[in-house]
Amino acid sequence: MASSSAEHDQAKRPALNVLLAAPRGFCAGVDRAIQIVELALAKFGAPVYVRHEIVHNRYVVESLKAKGAVFVEELDEIPDTDQPVIFSAHGVPKSVPLAAKSRNLFSIDATCPLVFKVHTEASRHHAEGRKIVLIGHAGHPEVEGTTGQLPPGSVTLIETAADAETFEPEDASRLAYVTQTTLSVDDTADIVAILKRRFPAIVGPHKEDICYATTNRQAAVKAIAGKVGLTIVVGAPNSSNSLRLVEVAERSGCPKAILIQRASDIPWPLFDGVETVGITAGASAPETLVDEVLDALNARFAISVEQVRTANERIAFNVPRELREPADA
Ligand code: SF4
Repeated sequence: MASSSAEHDQAKRPALNVLLAAPRGFCAGVDRAIQIVELALAKFGAPVYVRHEIVHNRYVVESLKAKGAVFVEELDEIPDTDQPVIFSAHGVPKSVPLAAKSRNLFSIDATCPLVFKVHTEASRHHAEGRKIVLIGHAGHPEVEGTTGQLPPGSVTLIETAADAETFEPEDASRLAYVTQTTLSVDDTADIVAILKRRFPAIVGPHKEDICYATTNRQAAVKAIAGKVGLTIVVGAPNSSNSLRLVEVAERSGCPKAILIQRASDIPWPLFDGVETVGITAGASAPETLVDEVLDALNARFAISVEQVRTANERIAFNVPRELREPADA
């Protein structure tokens, strides 16, 4: 009996194994931040203003824009309005809610509760008379938000092990460290070890500040990195946790690792000689973009997909109370 044309096409395409890292993609903080914008639009109507990209993903931002969200970088771009102004998941310096209040803007804070926890730690250390070392990346909005919880000069940013080796505090007996939530687990452990060796009295968080989602996504990509010839990370170039996934894949034995925003970015020549490809996604990348990549692979290859799960995640965060109450409450 003649085979169907679909079977014929399948036979012509080269075989490709796909290992899908799990967990991947949306975390609880991103999920909550997007829900906040959507609920605000449903409850208060458009426009809803959002300071900074609500999460670092262009697809998410464009989808929310289409529903009536207006994205700005600073509050002075927002006209006087009764409509809500939402602060992004990355957190904001204290000056931002104060400025919103002074203009009588109605603000809703979508800061991830795990970023807020770091703000609280930094404020507590400051109140107890310690100088704060913040391990993180200069210019990232989360770093600006955490630094901006305290008066100027209270926080020193350490980006690298070299910074940790050369840092000279005024009083080594009154030091504490906090970290950005989306760092490399391994790099951060190295930096913390240097700080503890040089400043044995330094105080740190009870549990690391790097969040569960960052930790789990890095562990999942490590589990597949040694088995694949190419790792594709779906995410945005300004997404810290996505960039870290590329580094972790490379350092864990994968010969090639790349970041792409969408299927249209796939650099096909990199697939030459690759029998197994690994796929993961940063915490701000929706699963629909992973599906899009799988569809693009399926159009060129006869793919067989295996999911490699290293952790189960059941964390969810409530949205703020003002969005849980009905409009006329
Ligand atoms: Fe929160 Fe972590 Fe997600 Fe950032 S990556 S929004 S800290 S859960």
